[in-house]
Amino acid sequence: MNYATSSWFVKVTAIKDKLLKNNEEINWVPAHIKDGRFGKWLEGARDWAISRSRFWGAPLPVWKCEKCDKLEVLGSIDDIKNKVKKSGNKYFIMRHGESEHNKKNVVSSKVLNPHHLTEKGKTDIKGISQKVKKENIDIIFSSDFVRTKETAEVLASEIDYDKSKIIFDKRIRELNTGTFDGKSPRDYHNYFTTLEEKFTKAPPEGENLIELKNRVSEFLYEIEENYQDKNILIISHEYPIWLLSAGAIGADIKQSVKMKEDNGDDYIETGELRGFDFTPLPHNENYEIDLHRPYIDKIEFDCLCGGKTKRVVHVFDCWFESGSMPYASAHYPFENKNKVENNLSAEFIAEGLDQTRGWFYTLLVLSTALFDKPAYKNVIVNGIILTEDGEKISKRLKNYTDPIEIVHKYGADALRLYLLSSPVVRAEDLNFSEHSVDEVYKKVILRLWNVYSFYDMYAPSPLGGEASKYYLAAEPPSSKNVLDKWILARLDELMQEITVNLEKYELDKATRPIFDFVDDLSTWYVRRSRDRFKDEGEDKKDAILTTRFVLLEFAKVTAPFMPFMSERFYKSLGGEKESVHLEEWPFKKSLTDSVLGVFGVDKASKDLEILYDMKEIRRVVSLGLEARAEAGLKVRQPLQKLIIKNDKLKGKDELLELVKDEVNVKEIGFDPGIENDVKLDLRLTPELIAEGQFRDIVRFVQDLRKKAGLTPDDEISVFVQTDFSGENLLKKFEDEFRKIVNARPVEFSASGGPALGRNDLLKLDDLEFVIKIATEK
Ligand SMILES: [Zn+2]
Repeated sequence: MNYATSSWFVKVTAIKDKLLKNNEEINWVPAHIKDGRFGKWLEGARDWAISRSRFWGAPLPVWKCEKCDKLEVLGSIDDIKNKVKKSGNKYFIMRHGESEHNKKNVVSSKVLNPHHLTEKGKTDIKGISQKVKKENIDIIFSSDFVRTKETAEVLASEIDYDKSKIIFDKRIRELNTGTFDGKSPRDYHNYFTTLEEKFTKAPPEGENLIELKNRVSEFLYEIEENYQDKNILIISHEYPIWLLSAGAIGADIKQSVKMKEDNGDDYIETGELRGFDFTPLPHNENYEIDLHRPYIDKIEFDCLCGGKTKRVVHVFDCWFESGSMPYASAHYPFENKNKVENNLSAEFIAEGLDQTRGWFYTLLVLSTALFDKPAYKNVIVNGIILTEDGEKISKRLKNYTDPIEIVHKYGADALRLYLLSSPVVRAEDLNFSEHSVDEVYKKVILRLWNVYSFYDMYAPSPLGGEASKYYLAAEPPSSKNVLDKWILARLDELMQEITVNLEKYELDKATRPIFDFVDDLSTWYVRRSRDRFKDEGEDKKDAILTTRFVLLEFAKVTAPFMPFMSERFYKSLGGEKESVHLEEWPFKKSLTDSVLGVFGVDKASKDLEILYDMKEIRRVVSLGLEARAEAGLKVRQPLQKLIIKNDKLKGKDELLELVKDEVNVKEIGFDPGIENDVKLDLRLTPELIAEGQFRDIVRFVQDLRKKAGLTPDDEISVFVQTDFSGENLLKKFEDEFRKIVNARPVEFSASGGPALGRNDLLKLDDLEFVIKIATEK
């Protein structure tokens, strides 16, 4: 149904230029939203309808005279107090004088209890009467208990007030403590675990404090209504006086408890007199201040023209409240004035693309209108996640996998990395692919676990102890090994890439370098360092120290991206803090430095060199392996020589060793005259062939070991049945063979023993071996 209705508007058109100017100060990710979708929306900005004709919501604080249409905005409780009609009454409250039950220390909560004032009680009341007299009391209200009645009567004769005019009101009687009457006050208190509990839990046959508060507050509101310009004295008991004071200011349970706690043992002493202010306020049925409808609508006042001023019926559109969040949530301007005004713009907010017309917009409109500042400095706009086929995700169609299932299957870190590295963090839609999460899981998470497990297996505890001492220094290890230098330089590079992109709030660009780094760490650094871990001595120590340092720093810098795994690494590797998420960000250098270098400027140029060299080495290796594949030669077959066209790597022997190992060649040569970047010498001599065959035998035996479930420490016996040439071949390499496969001297037989089965047959060209292994175990 469409019909015309009147609304309240924010005149956005009047501040359009300021909106556009403030938008210029905001860093949008992706950048095109600033002048595109959002900027265009600002340029076409229309006035903003902020009112709704509903019951629920924050009421518009606008009052209107029914006669002359004059508008008044009441922006605070004080404004309301100033506007509402006051009775002109002055209120005084007094607790009865000391009574017999106070002295006996028993609870007295029944009106017929014969607990009279003590002599001291009477004397005290007489003592204070001169003070009371000065207040020119017009009316005395009193509880109808014996002790309050006597207090009122003693006082009345002292201040010449006609006793017969004392008004007794049951509503200001003592709290009804039910079955605790006559018992020790301690018994009553012990019935509750907290003071707060007394408000909602009543003792048997008694009343709770909400009931008490409601009856004394009702009394107060009633006399405020019924009397004008009177000085009124109320004589009552401790709890009723406390809760009448609470009801007078609209305190809720928490505030009421605080009032009592702030006042010492007793809220008010026996025979004590106090004055208090009272202005009726919008409140709910428990006399707690409440500025919502319907209570706020009871606030009406007279206009100067003589007309009645009433609140307009509207409430705010909830978007007005979202836009006010930065100030309203801090109870500004009533509290936190400096804090809010000094921190007007949030560092960073994130929401979906649809919010360019919603939250992003209302935040900017209100911050511009109120303070002429943007409400936020950086904003990441995310896109929408769709099904793999690009359809809208629908609960009804159930055309998606439950995210919790994905988390159970691949872990929260894999899902998080997948999303953070995807275009959904730059306002683009994402066709969610479980396959891609699986890929992240395999390429990043599993590889990292393997790196860690490998480290853990080879880091013996004495060295571990030494290592942990070393790491307290938070310095990178000073290894001479080129692989260590390289992975440290890569770590440095990773930290810089992540930091620079996080500073720009470009999450995908900050996340993706993690994938490459894990690949380098796992498939190059650790793979190439395997033998170093197995050796003894300085190089092993360097490998372990470097791996540990790298994993620890990696944990710190990836904590925002993979919070669970980084925490696991950090704790396992002996990180100093309670959690990696309490660590300092490891990259401390200024981002304006164009050089690499968490580890210092001196190291930076060396970093660049090693990064370049290793890239080149890996390119050469990959070309060498391609050339092998083209020639149909398996990698186990050694070749004599690889020739490299570019001579930049000449003389870098440590790096070239990596090429020799990877491509399995005896030597490296340089020749600028060759046609391609690398050239492989494919000629096979009898020696190279024999070595290749030997490598095949080693591989075969290692497989047997693996199938038998042996660890590297298990020494084996090896039985070989072969012919003369086969035996010659193996004997030629026997020392090396025994070392690699951890074997006792090989036992040859011409025909084989009963244990040798045909399953263990290895054929190499025209050679045949039947091989069996055994352990002592
Ligand atoms: Zn008026």
